[in-house]
Amino acid sequence: MLVADVKTAYDRKELCAEISPLLNYDEDCNSALILINVWHTRQVSAHYGYEVSQEILSLITTDLDHFVKKDCCLLRTGNHEFALLIQNLKNPGHCQLALNKIVRELNAKSVELADFSTKTKLTMGAALYPRHAMSAEHLVQCVEIALHQSDARNHPSTMYSAEMSERIIKQLRIESELEIAIKSKSLDVWYQPKINIKTGALYGVEALCRWHSTKDGFISPEIFIPLAEERNFIHELTRWVLNVSFRTQIEWKQLGLDINMAVNISGKVIDDDDFVEIIKHTQGIWNIKPKDITLEITETAVMQSMETSLKKLNQLKDTNFVLSIDDFGTGYSSLEYFKKLPVNEVKIDKSFIFNMLNDKGDHNLVTMMVNLAHSFSLDIVAEGIEDKLTLEALDELGVQRGQGYYIAKPMPAEEFLTWAEFYLANLKH
Ligand code: C2E
Ligand code: CA
Ligand code: CA
Repeated sequence: MLVADVKTAYDRKELCAEISPLLNYDEDCNSALILINVWHTRQVSAHYGYEVSQEILSLITTDLDHFVKKDCCLLRTGNHEFALLIQNLKNPGHCQLALNKIVRELNAKSVELADFSTKTKLTMGAALYPRHAMSAEHLVQCVEIALHQSDARNHPSTMYSAEMSERIIKQLRIESELEIAIKSKSLDVWYQPKINIKTGALYGVEALCRWHSTKDGFISPEIFIPLAEERNFIHELTRWVLNVSFRTQIEWKQLGLDINMAVNISGKVIDDDDFVEIIKHTQGIWNIKPKDITLEITETAVMQSMETSLKKLNQLKDTNFVLSIDDFGTGYSSLEYFKKLPVNEVKIDKSFIFNMLNDKGDHNLVTMMVNLAHSFSLDIVAEGIEDKLTLEALDELGVQRGQGYYIAKPMPAEEFLTWAEFYLANLKH
C-alpha cells in the first residue's frame, strides 16, 4: 500500500477514519503513526509572506514524498502538519530509525529561495499500534502527546510512552484545579521578612503565594505561577495577592507593626492597560502609603514591552511606590537599559548568594552588582541568605537589606506575627 495525499488537509476525525482500516491487529507487528510539524513556515510566513512559506512547504512535501515507500501512507493534516503511517514494523525500534532518518534528511535543511536562504525546523511525535494504543483515535491522541513533548522540550522527535500521558494528564488536572483555586480564593499568602543587615531592624516582608492542591499537595509557585501566566489567570491571582497582603499589612499596623510589604508583579500584569490603576486603586482601598509598598519586578518582565512598561513604572515611582528589580543579575539586559529603569532597589538573586563564600566568581559578581547599585544610588537587598557568615560578608560589602532562611523562612500571617514579636523582643536586648 502506498498513499500520498498532501493536497487535502485532513482534520483529526478524518485522519482517524483514513488510518483505521489500515490498522490490522497483529501482536508481532506494529504500525507507527508519526505527526510531523513544520515549524519554520510559520515564522517565514510572518516575515516573508504566505507565498514564500508555501514554497518552502512544497519543497518539504516533495522531500517527504520520497519517504513514502512500500507500506507507507502520507497525509496532510494541517497547514503545517503531516501524518505518516508506516505499517508492518517487525521491530518497534524501526520507528525510531525512521524518525532519525527524517530528522537527518529534512530537519535544519537549507532552503534556497530567490533572495534569501533559510533552514527548516521539524518537530515530530510518534506512537505505535497496537503497542501504545488499540484504536485509531487513541493512537492519534498518543501521537499528539508525543508531539507536545517535542515542542515543549524543543526536541526534534519524541516516541510516546505511558508515563508521558500520566504527566500530561497531571498537568491538565493541575491547570483546572489552579483555575478553581484562584476563583474560589483558596490559595494562601505567606510572608518572609527582610531585615536591615547592619542594625537587624525589621524592614518589611515579601508576600509569597502558596497553593496546597487537594489532590497533589503542596505545589511550588515556580510551577503554578508560570502556569497562571500561560493560562492568563495571573491577573486575577495578582489582584487577590495585592488585596490579601495589603489587608494583612493594615492589620499588623493596627497591632503596632508598621513595615513595608513587597509583592511580586509578573510581566503579563505590567502589560495590562489598567496596571497602574489597579495598583493605585488597591493601595487606596486599604489606605496604605505608597512608600510602604514595594513592587518586585524582574528585568525580563519590563523588557517584553519596554516603552510602555517604563512609562507605567515611572508613573508609579512618581507616586512614591518602591520599585525593586527582582532576580537581579539573572537577566541579560545591557547597562544602557539598566540606566533607564526607574527603580529604587535591586534585589540580588539568591543563586549568586548561596555560594558566594565558596565561589570566587559568585563573590566577584555580587561585589560588582553592589558597586553598580551604589553608583546609581540604589538600595540593595540580598535574598537567599542561609547562614551567618554570608550575612556578615554582605554587611561588609555594604548591602543594606537581607532576606533568607537564616533570618526566617516564609510563613503564614499569624505565625509571622509571633515570629516578629519574638524577633523584635530579642533585638532590643
Ligand atoms: P522570588 O520572587 O525570587 O522569591 C524568592 C524565593 O526564594 C521564594 O521562593 C523564597 O521562599 C525563596 N527563598 C528565600 N530565601 C531563601 C533561602 O535562604 N534559601 C532558599 N533555598 N530559598 C529562599 P518561593 O516562595 O518558592 O517563590 C518562588 C517564585 O515564585 C518567586 O521567586 C516569585 O518569582 C514567584 N512568586 C511567588 N509568589 C508570587 C506571586 O504572588 N506573584 C508572582 N507574580 N510571582 C510569585
Ligand atoms: Ca520576589
Ligand atoms: Ca529571586
